[in-house]
Amino acid sequence: MNKRRIAILGSTGSIGRQALDVISRHPDKFETELLTANNNASLLIEQAIRFRPGSVVICNGDLYQTVSDALDPYDIKVFAGMGSVNDLVKSSAIDIVLAAMVGFSGLEPTIHAIKSGKIIALANKETLVAAGSIVMRLSREYGSPVLPVDSEHSAIFQCLQGERAEIEKILLTASGGPFLHTDAHTLRTVTKKQALRHPNWNMGAKVTIDSASMMNKGLEMIEASWLFNLPPDKIEIVVHPQSVIHSMVQFTDGSIKAQLGAPDMRVPIQYALSYPERISLDTERLDFPALSRLSFFAPDPERFPAVSLAYAAHKQGGNMACIMNGANEMAVSAFLEDKILFHRIPHIIEKTMEKCSFVVAPSLEDIYRTHAEAKALAAELIRKETE
Ligand code: MG
Repeated sequence: MNKRRIAILGSTGSIGRQALDVISRHPDKFETELLTANNNASLLIEQAIRFRPGSVVICNGDLYQTVSDALDPYDIKVFAGMGSVNDLVKSSAIDIVLAAMVGFSGLEPTIHAIKSGKIIALANKETLVAAGSIVMRLSREYGSPVLPVDSEHSAIFQCLQGERAEIEKILLTASGGPFLHTDAHTLRTVTKKQALRHPNWNMGAKVTIDSASMMNKGLEMIEASWLFNLPPDKIEIVVHPQSVIHSMVQFTDGSIKAQLGAPDMRVPIQYALSYPERISLDTERLDFPALSRLSFFAPDPERFPAVSLAYAAHKQGGNMACIMNGANEMAVSAFLEDKILFHRIPHIIEKTMEKCSFVVAPSLEDIYRTHAEAKALAAELIRKETE
């Protein structure tokens, strides 16, 4: 395989750091061309000195001088601001753009990368939730493949290799998060610290809170629907607390294919970077006799209303999933700032979905407008909660 030149948008986050770990293990196959970070200047500097990308971007302009001074002795160009990320992803020195920024902010640079014909390794599910129809249309138009990095979607993608058959349904597995067995009453007052303690996966704060509320699985259902071109009623969420099966595909003859492995995000990251090849990785291997038991059950809509909200939003279509996503981003930050209780997250999302302007066939401009409106409405609801 030819050496691939990689841009990592969000290199100091959980996915970005694990991607650099993968790259460091295969210096003959990958090299970093661009690293970007929002605020973590010290880690960005450290990564840049180690991996020597052509350019780095620190999105927070206040930190530009710090990064620029530290990297002065090296042959690395330093830029600031989101505008620079949007420009630099177009560089002909980049083959693959790993979109690993958090939340809605990943949308704009991903669109620029698609329009310049890059391979997109997509870790940012909010991009497809907010603007799935636009992103997938542009991906076809510009011939820029969107490859999944999310572990479930990578599993489905791996199960589909070599298949031309119709998919009967996707079985999207969910760990159930830290509150899988927490009763509804206790769920009202769980703390930030408890919510941030995920049993199986090591991830950033936003996705960990989304996992605790199970909104993550709602977002992933929508992401799967766009990536694999399936209606929501063909995507079934199955709770599987051990996270050994990363998801499954059921075909029309009743056969089911699953992808299994120890939970380690480096596997789906590497698969997206090396696709269609599969290369070695020193992950923990499954020991089947030691596994003893794999369990499965349906999600509880009473305790985890976020799942039903996601199905409702996606079935309604238009900009509704974008509204839901914007409200969720706002509610999750409010919870992380101790402004609202955990069980108010889905409530705020639901109320925002009722109030925000609905657009049947949104343009990209409508999507940006919707995101801002949904966040403003959710912020207003949060303000009322805290009065
Ligand atoms: Mg996932």
